[in-house]
Amino acid sequence: MITSIVVPCYGEADGLPILYARLAATSEMAETDMEFVFVDDGSTDDTPAVLRKLAESDSRVKYIALSRNFGKEAAMLAGLRAARGDAVVIMDADLQHPPELIPKLLEEHLAGADQVVARRDRTNDPLFRRNLSRLYFRAVNSVVDVRLADGEGDFRLLSRRALDALLSLTEHNRFSKGLFAWIGFPVTVVPFKSGIREHGSSSWSLGSLVNYGVDGVLSFNIKPLRSAIHAGILLVIGSAVYLAWQIINALMVGVDTPGYLTLIAAIIGLGGAQMIVLGIIGEYVGRIFLETKRRPHFIVKESNLDTPRLPR
Ligand code: UDP
Ligand code: MG
Repeated sequence: MITSIVVPCYGEADGLPILYARLAATSEMAETDMEFVFVDDGSTDDTPAVLRKLAESDSRVKYIALSRNFGKEAAMLAGLRAARGDAVVIMDADLQHPPELIPKLLEEHLAGADQVVARRDRTNDPLFRRNLSRLYFRAVNSVVDVRLADGEGDFRLLSRRALDALLSLTEHNRFSKGLFAWIGFPVTVVPFKSGIREHGSSSWSLGSLVNYGVDGVLSFNIKPLRSAIHAGILLVIGSAVYLAWQIINALMVGVDTPGYLTLIAAIIGLGGAQMIVLGIIGEYVGRIFLETKRRPHFIVKESNLDTPRLPR
């Protein structure tokens, strides 16, 4: 049995040798053979050189360098397509995902789980970030059909059949957390304590987190469109009731309505509501546009994999 370890790397030159050393040490302990698939996601630092050197010294190291920064999802996909293991483990390069947990993940896999999720205990996170993500998951779970859990990130093991299922999903806009949940199969959760990032810095800004959140909601279903219809119906009923009441009032007591503020409020409010709904529709249209281009998810610049193994 071979286990592939897939690691997307963006600007991780400082941490990679340590990660590799810890992975190599773990592989001595584990009962399976291992291959390490490192994907350089267009890093501007020495990451490609470091990977090349690792690959020269250890034939188990495969590396793929992408032609530019395509984002973590694309880098992960590149690695997953190249992986040839009977099971794959996805992990971050920044040492927040301890390699020492891999034997435990394998053990749960051998006990029958197709997906073994390493669930991160958030106690080391900044308080603000922790609450933000808790809020986010509560909000997302109330709209999406697949259940997403806080602390369950990309650090996980997939069996070959779960991986094949995942790779059969070809959408361009990949929201992995949702895709993992969508494919199903027996899942086991293993808790771990997350480390503090030791080198470089997290590439997530608050803005990109918010965008990620919007993505999570929009890329999984069309409920926001449905709720726009509901909101519209409510508004129409509301205004009909208000109008009826005004008419009755006018008939009974005569016309006595300055109504200027009501008018302004109604115009601005309705205008705003329409723009929000247009925006929602626009998001979906934009997504259709991007999906119909059918561009590849990433372009490979360089790799030590032989051509037939190069990802499409
Ligand atoms: N990463 C990547 N491409 C990017 C951004 C990040 O491949 O454009 C990799 C990064 O090298 C790391 C993992 O994705 O291995 C997670 O990134 P990061 O630690 O910045 O995210 P966080 O842990 O804060 O979610
Ligand atoms: Mg990280």
